[in-house]
Amino acid sequence: MSTGSDLLPVEDARARALALASPLPVEWVRLDEALGRALGADVLAQRTLPPWDNSAMDGYAVRSADLTGPLPVRLAVGETIHAGETPKLELRPGICARIMTGAPLPAGADAVVMQERTRPLQLAEGPAVEILEAVSPGNFVRPRGEDARAGEPLLGRGTPLGIPELGLITAQGMLTVPVPRRPRVAILSTGDELCRADEAPEGRIVDTNAPALALAVARAGGLPTLLGIARDTQAEVSSRLADAQGFDVVLTSAGVSVGERDFVKAALQEQGVEMNFWRVAIKPGKPLAVGRRGATLYFGLPGNPTSSLVTFELFVRPVLRRLLGHSPSAVEPARVPGRLEGELRKPPGLAHYIRVAATWRDGELWARPLATQTSGALRSAASATHLLHFPREASSLAHGGYVVLLPVSWAA
Ligand code: AMP
Ligand code: MG
Repeated sequence: MSTGSDLLPVEDARARALALASPLPVEWVRLDEALGRALGADVLAQRTLPPWDNSAMDGYAVRSADLTGPLPVRLAVGETIHAGETPKLELRPGICARIMTGAPLPAGADAVVMQERTRPLQLAEGPAVEILEAVSPGNFVRPRGEDARAGEPLLGRGTPLGIPELGLITAQGMLTVPVPRRPRVAILSTGDELCRADEAPEGRIVDTNAPALALAVARAGGLPTLLGIARDTQAEVSSRLADAQGFDVVLTSAGVSVGERDFVKAALQEQGVEMNFWRVAIKPGKPLAVGRRGATLYFGLPGNPTSSLVTFELFVRPVLRRLLGHSPSAVEPARVPGRLEGELRKPPGLAHYIRVAATWRDGELWARPLATQTSGALRSAASATHLLHFPREASSLAHGGYVVLLPVSWAA
């Protein structure tokens, strides 16, 4: 058995896979098509938003200089301004305006006093108010241009488009955004033992990798195409790969190890795929072949169902995110600190990615390794929330020790 010293470290393997990929050409899509994608170009603001200083509270717009004397201070109320209305008066000393959240500040006002800190009065001369506390300039004022300034950058290229980002873009009146197009991803299962889910198994096993990978691809923002099942001959795998034209990424599963019927590497090479690496110091997922032909990236993923999901998470998903134009920090798998519940042992040489269920307790994330860790069993991935990184050279992790956890994208 390999000691692991001739195997590529996980981080190097990911860096090499990422180096093969660059963002795909930009397309303009409607905003409801853009969630979770990244901007393919800088977007400049065309509008200054909010367009005027406005109130963050229901209360009174005041000149803060009027409130420097002993409290309470009595002020005349010159007008009432609701959201959607335009102020008519300029505040002179001793005068304030009743104002509602979102309404523009009248000229002369520099602060808002929330209504809970006031006492309205009805005087013979007209409406007035007692202000119970002094405020500094800017108090409860949402300044003009807080969200955007016309002509200035609004969001930069590579920014992931979450809901607030799409809101900022909506407020600019933009109906479409430039984003790298979605990667087209072909998925080929290989194995004499496999059948489709709608076939009677009769001594075979149902291909679960292809549908699982298709879901993972779609969740990562790609467009999956299932290419079916190839039998374990180099000729068949090779001809299926030859037919897979026009894809940005081709994923195969199984047949990539050193077994007698493992033809994927040879078939990839026969098809002119330049192999970049195929041995990674990782468990599960040591046999993993990565290469490129022209603009298409090829991943020969391992066949064990959990191995294919783990290697998807650690290598394929980051590459899909790079193709989708995410900035470098958003391409690497996310990591969070946690503590180990239980103990773990292994020989040094391979980094292990342990399926754990993590729960929040006493202000920390506690990670409990799932009972089954065999990569052949899908059950060892079911109910996993994170992968626990058991470093390559480590041989034991103690109960309560601090560990690095990677949230999995395949969780419910
Ligand atoms: P291999 O890498 O071809 O030796 O396959 C490793 C293990 O994964 C074997 O037990 C296969 O039966 C299983 N396997 C391979 N492909 C699939 C698949 N598409 N769905 C489910 N299990 C698979
Ligand atoms: Mg096989």
